[in-house]
Amino acid sequence: MKVLKFGGSSVANSEKIKQVLSIIAKTSEEQKVAVVVSAFGKTTDQLLAGANAALQDINEAKEILKGIHELHFQVINDLISTNTKEVSEEVTLLFNRLQSIYEGVFLLQELSNKTLAKVSSFGERLSSYIIANAAKETLDATHKESRDLIITNDEYLNAQVNFEVTNKNIAIFFHDNQHKVTLLGGFISSNTAEETTTLGRGGSDFSAAIFAAALDANELQIWTDVSGMYTANPRVVKQAFPISEISYEEAMELSHFGAKVLYPPTIQPALRKNIPIRIKNTFDPENPGTLISNDPENAHEVKGISHIDDISLITLEGGGMIGIPGFSKRLFETLSVAKINVIFITQASSEHSICVGVYENDAQKAKTLLDDTFSVEIARKKIKPVIVENDLAIIAVVGESMKNYQGLSGQMFSALGKNNVNVRAIAQGSSEKNISAVINKSDAKKALNTLHEQFFEEKTKQLNLFVTGVGNVGERFLAQIHQQKKFLKENLKLNIRVIGISNSRKMVFDNSGINLKKWKELLENGEPTSLDNFHKKVKESNQRNSVFIDNTANQQVSEVYEKYLRDSISVVTCNKIACASKFDNYKKLKEVSKKYNASFLFETNVGAGLPIIDTLKNLVNSGDQIHKIQAVLSGSLNFVFNNFNENITFHDVVAQAQAEGFTEPDPKIDLSGVDVARKILILARESGYTLELEDIKNNAFLPKETLNTTNNDDFYLSLTKNEAHFQNIFKEANDKDCRLKYVAEFKDGKANVGLQHIPASHPFYNLEGSDNIVLFFTERYPQNPLIIKGAGAGADVTASGIFADVIRIANQ
Ligand code: ADP
Ligand code: ASP
Ligand code: MG
Repeated sequence: MKVLKFGGSSVANSEKIKQVLSIIAKTSEEQKVAVVVSAFGKTTDQLLAGANAALQDINEAKEILKGIHELHFQVINDLISTNTKEVSEEVTLLFNRLQSIYEGVFLLQELSNKTLAKVSSFGERLSSYIIANAAKETLDATHKESRDLIITNDEYLNAQVNFEVTNKNIAIFFHDNQHKVTLLGGFISSNTAEETTTLGRGGSDFSAAIFAAALDANELQIWTDVSGMYTANPRVVKQAFPISEISYEEAMELSHFGAKVLYPPTIQPALRKNIPIRIKNTFDPENPGTLISNDPENAHEVKGISHIDDISLITLEGGGMIGIPGFSKRLFETLSVAKINVIFITQASSEHSICVGVYENDAQKAKTLLDDTFSVEIARKKIKPVIVENDLAIIAVVGESMKNYQGLSGQMFSALGKNNVNVRAIAQGSSEKNISAVINKSDAKKALNTLHEQFFEEKTKQLNLFVTGVGNVGERFLAQIHQQKKFLKENLKLNIRVIGISNSRKMVFDNSGINLKKWKELLENGEPTSLDNFHKKVKESNQRNSVFIDNTANQQVSEVYEKYLRDSISVVTCNKIACASKFDNYKKLKEVSKKYNASFLFETNVGAGLPIIDTLKNLVNSGDQIHKIQAVLSGSLNFVFNNFNENITFHDVVAQAQAEGFTEPDPKIDLSGVDVARKILILARESGYTLELEDIKNNAFLPKETLNTTNNDDFYLSLTKNEAHFQNIFKEANDKDCRLKYVAEFKDGKANVGLQHIPASHPFYNLEGSDNIVLFFTERYPQNPLIIKGAGAGADVTASGIFADVIRIANQ
């Protein structure tokens, strides 16, 4: 014999019930089956809503009832053709009774648990009766009232089963029952006074297990709307997948901690009789689903992750508890007498505090009762009044063989920490089947996805980008990401999504990833932005592995990095302002980045995409010492002096450099040498030296009046006015067969920048176009320096440098 249970989602309408009937037909070809069904769709919720409405407004209750009535008669019309009259009459009778109860509630203004149990039982009474009659059309089927068989105590809404009587009832009934298919309503039962009771919300699973155990069934099948018990709730974690085999204990832990697919008490009766439970998908019957048994194939040490929302933490705290026995006994006794379910317990080893997790609904009641229980100690200030914290969730990582692996809890908490999920309390069952943590409810989704990635998706990593600045560099960057996305996914197992984009006016967000084919259009239609708004949205979006990317040259943007880093959001920037600001600020950003486990990368601050800072870091980290750096670090100045001669004006060369995207938006920053000074400053700092921008000697070649201009127009006018000055600079170098290079030098803790005459024998002499070159003279490279050379300016190479930083973060 097999017991099959179909949940509310499997019997939500006629089409779905047809599917159910075909599964029953197929199974009953081979053996007898008992079929337990839930109420149609959301009927139980609606019945209860109707009862609550009846307390206020009987017409509203009747309106709700009308909806329920419609659904049930629709199914009768669609699926029953022989017995229609009899079934319609019986069902009408049930609806009349239900309406009378609602009217009673309205008149008496009273809604007891006894009445609630009665009202909610109608869902399964109706569904099992109607489906039985639909089955009779083609099968040898019968209907049996489960309330006659399952006998419980008087706890109307969460009744405890008397197994002795129940098992006997079931055995006797089925002994005499010759039908191949027996339809039974789940969830419902009765007490010894023959009043209706129920087994708790979601309790049809439990009913089915009770029948399976009493009948020694060879299998219990739970048919639902997903293909088994998943590694995490598939509605919250997209990457979750069905667990093929799992033990009773593991399934119990997962369901206890929120995997709604199975009502937790279900396992017990099946486990006692060692009956395998199979969870299957009504809408994909060929899928093997999940097998729950004593002896599962163990593929993975962590089996699944589940969570419960709406948790409160109740803390009892105070020096007066230390060493005095009986506090926890009184605490738990108080909660147990009040039937408050304790989901989670931790106690500090100092015995200074006990902390329990309860459902948020119970929290206030628990506080009132506990404050009362401990009123004497509280009055004497031995302990504090009970503390309640709301809006929390519990996440649990479950797996029986976790105990055989070291470091799993380390992995769990470091993954959470890296993603800025604050852990409020931790518990690990001594059997080590379960490690659970209390976190903020708002972090639950992120935490589940993080842990799922950690334990089940080691191979793909997701990176979520928030991009500010979509000028030359930003635009190229987005284009490169768009182009490489597929490659990265396939080859590096890296899934990069751009979640937010902003320019100085607008911003756009899409938590599932902005379509990069049309980001411009989306941004144009986005909402107004500000640095604060953008930050707020990034925080709200609360994604794991988040990276903020600054493609601007803006001072204010550079001032928000710290905020992001403190939220454990990595920062990648081509904007030099932060790293070239006061040393204390630079140092603080580095420290914050370390403390909050967020990368702060700025490879493109020097030499665009050339791996200059990365190389320097590798040298320093591996113990080398930097003695001297000599470099041509301005792609713009290099371009300018490579193209400047007696046949062209200085003005035209600079204008061309700007037009080709080789200068900062304000070309004076390049021409004045400030940009180069910032770069050598950053290299000096990265080499381990404490230096300020003012410490760098800048032998500027621009005339004072050009330096003093305040806008680009005046700047260019001034260049024309001083053409003779620039021609003279050229001539002096040319006469000595030298070329002009703007050189940055760092030596013995001091740095300077300025124009130099470079002879043909020097490695800088042949530097072309907008190229950069850096010579590192170090302990290990004393005479022949380590040289890095290549294109050092331009939107494409800068964007690819930013991209490289993003990949560095992914590889960490
Ligand atoms: P039924 O109506 O069949 O009783 P339920 O709604 O009670 O179905 O349970 C199935 C739902 O449980 C799924 O649709 C899914 O949203 C939820 N669920 C939560 N956690 C899990 C999990 N780990 N695996 C599968 N489903 C889960
Ligand atoms: N119909 C009941 C409920 O919605 C029982 C069940 O579906 O398992 O809670
Ligand atoms: Mg269910």
